Amino acid sequence: MSQVIENLQHLIAIPSVTGNEHNLQLHIQQELAGQGIEAFFQEGNLVVFMPGQDHTRAFIMNSHSDVVDPGDPDKWTHGPWSGEIEDGRMYGRGTSDMKAGLAASLELADRLRKRPSMPVDTWFTFVIQEETDGKGTRSFSDWFVKEGYAARYTEMVAIFTEPTHLDSLEYGHRGNYFLKASIDGQAGHASRPHELNPHAIMEMTHFMTDLEQEMAEWKKQFKGLLFSPPTITPTSLRADSTSPNRVSDHCEAIFDLRTIPQFHEAAFERVKEIAEKRGISLSLVCDPAPSGYTDPTASIIKAVQAVIPEVKLNVSQAAADLGFLTEIGVQGIIYGPGEITQAHQTNESVEVAQVERAPDLYEAIYDTWASQTDS
Ligand SMILES: [Zn+2]
Repeated sequence: MSQVIENLQHLIAIPSVTGNEHNLQLHIQQELAGQGIEAFFQEGNLVVFMPGQDHTRAFIMNSHSDVVDPGDPDKWTHGPWSGEIEDGRMYGRGTSDMKAGLAASLELADRLRKRPSMPVDTWFTFVIQEETDGKGTRSFSDWFVKEGYAARYTEMVAIFTEPTHLDSLEYGHRGNYFLKASIDGQAGHASRPHELNPHAIMEMTHFMTDLEQEMAEWKKQFKGLLFSPPTITPTSLRADSTSPNRVSDHCEAIFDLRTIPQFHEAAFERVKEIAEKRGISLSLVCDPAPSGYTDPTASIIKAVQAVIPEVKLNVSQAAADLGFLTEIGVQGIIYGPGEITQAHQTNESVEVAQVERAPDLYEAIYDTWASQTDS
């Protein structure tokens, strides 16, 4: 068995459901130490810095170490932490999303470490909490700016090792806001609804109708763009009453707003404006996730195309960690072994041959990018 596959099995054997990544992070740190590579903790993230001869350019690898809950282990034909291989596929939670990419990244670190020198500053980041709110990459991005690294580079690129089957790459994704809308109305007897001003529940439903109309406008306004138009949809609604004939005096709803690079903060401002007209107050459930976008002619994309001429270029409609780095000027892409259709599934698996191919491709992309003189 190849080294990368053996390493992947070890990674799969350590459960690392979001919020409980620490054991896996310690394992990765030990693994790297065994290769003679020092990794330090930046909050919960594990970071490796390999200084290069050219201090003005940075190459960053980003892999998240958390996985989603496997659910009922009995529903798995191979245990979720087994890493068993059958018919050329390895099974287990995180095989595709994204411990395969993480194992390939570790293999690349090992190969680079064996070289006498590195052409450019090289960073390996193993981040936490990608599956919930991207807190890990967000924190790394803040740290990278605060420590002065972002300012010192004239060019920064990143590869997020999420599964893209190695034959396509993603250079953008939508952003999102999770919003809580709430309104205090008048409590009162349901037999005289016209006397209630405002009627909290009715006002909230009117707000939802307003948003539906707004979304139809967005569809027209942002037609024909790369990303599908911004969307907003309620994900929960709540108004409690102690009695069936008493109208609740409070109503709240949670909304999921998906934005595009051209319309991120402005989308939020627009929703706020509509809410205010209805007397509804809006608050953020958590920090918003920016949309990510790298120009398709960026040097990192050219490097991938030089290595894999037939690579397909896509954008993703879901949110991802990319935006936290593109926001600070990093040209990032999503590219890695595994299949996105396997992510979060029972019996998640990955093709072994693809995982074995990934480090060669990463190394070739790295060398191609690092040797580019005009950028
Ligand atoms: Zn992932």
